[in-house]
Amino acid sequence: ILKNYVDGIPKETDMEVKLGETIELRAPKGSSCFLVKNLYLSCDPYMRGRMRDFHGSYLPPFVPGQRIEGFGLARVIDSDDDNYKTGDIIGGIIGWEEYSLLRSSDNLQLRTIQLDDDIPLSYHLGLLGMAGFTAYAGFYEICCPKKGDSVFVSAASGAVGQLVGQLAKLHGCYVVGSAGSKQKVDLLKNELGFDEAFNYKEEADLDAALKRYFPEGIDIYFDNVGGSMLDAALLNMKVHGRIALCGMVSLQSLSTSSQGINNLYNAIPKRVRLEGFLQSDYLNIFPQFLENIMRYYKEGKIVYIEDMSEGLELAPAALVGLFSGKNIGKQVVRVAKE
Ligand code: NDP
Repeated sequence: ILKNYVDGIPKETDMEVKLGETIELRAPKGSSCFLVKNLYLSCDPYMRGRMRDFHGSYLPPFVPGQRIEGFGLARVIDSDDDNYKTGDIIGGIIGWEEYSLLRSSDNLQLRTIQLDDDIPLSYHLGLLGMAGFTAYAGFYEICCPKKGDSVFVSAASGAVGQLVGQLAKLHGCYVVGSAGSKQKVDLLKNELGFDEAFNYKEEADLDAALKRYFPEGIDIYFDNVGGSMLDAALLNMKVHGRIALCGMVSLQSLSTSSQGINNLYNAIPKRVRLEGFLQSDYLNIFPQFLENIMRYYKEGKIVYIEDMSEGLELAPAALVGLFSGKNIGKQVVRVAKE
């Protein structure tokens, strides 16, 4: 339950886990609803945006006193909707609760998951879900990559960043990632195949750091953080470089989203293209994404790092951890055994 609208960086105490409510485990006849047992929840930075009293975004705010919702995976246990049968596994927007009563007409981005013995179910929240798709759509549709391009990715070990970097390597690019700890930097270089990586928290001068790794400039910056890193990247873009504005997690808790950007002018003489995007605008290529990423994964061409918290009680901590970089890889919460 969201207790109240959040100011600044979200805290565990902004949420409350309520236990003990008894519900009827049936989908009411004639309701066109179906009841699901929730298995996994996805923790995503955009959820912070729904914790404030602001109605001008692409999603409405959560309601204080009511349960939070987000992407998840669940098993159908009773259904009054012919499209969803008992036993089906679905992915989409579900409540942060043990059971949810869903109605497909509620725009929940529902899909039935095809189980695959070689791929853990929870991967459908990251690698094969919204985060993975964001990386895929953002990299191929926004960045216009070419073999040999120099690519920079921020929050590079996270759910989106880890796949962007690996897709860029598969495309024949030179790839550098930034992350917030030595452990993450090692992961990027040793397991995820990045050419280079650095800990941005140890760099007093981000411009100098980028000049060290990109002496000839950056062709593509996949921006997950905004703020001072975006500002430094703007100084280092090549002529006709592309910046994919994916997210601004460093600003999620600030009120002014343009804070810290002084170098935007550089985009003009260098003819840099900056483009914001939402993964949901590209759902027409979701089947192509699923097919390609499943194949890459099975062929061992990409790896996937997941950070699993056990139990609904730990969900607030898991969500809050995204804003201090506690998660290593895609943050997921297991609510119940499959
Ligand atoms: P991550 O798994 O990358 O988790 C968030 C990470 O952000 C943390 O682990 C931390 O890594 C980093 N971080 C947190 N606070 C700061 C800060 N103040 N400055 C710099 N880095 C910070 O999250 P996702 O991969 O799910 O999301 C990445 C970005 O993509 C987010 O901005 C998100 O909003 C965006 N997004 C956009 C979508 C779209 O359609 N446009 C869809 C999905 C996600 P570290 O330890 O390295 O600092």
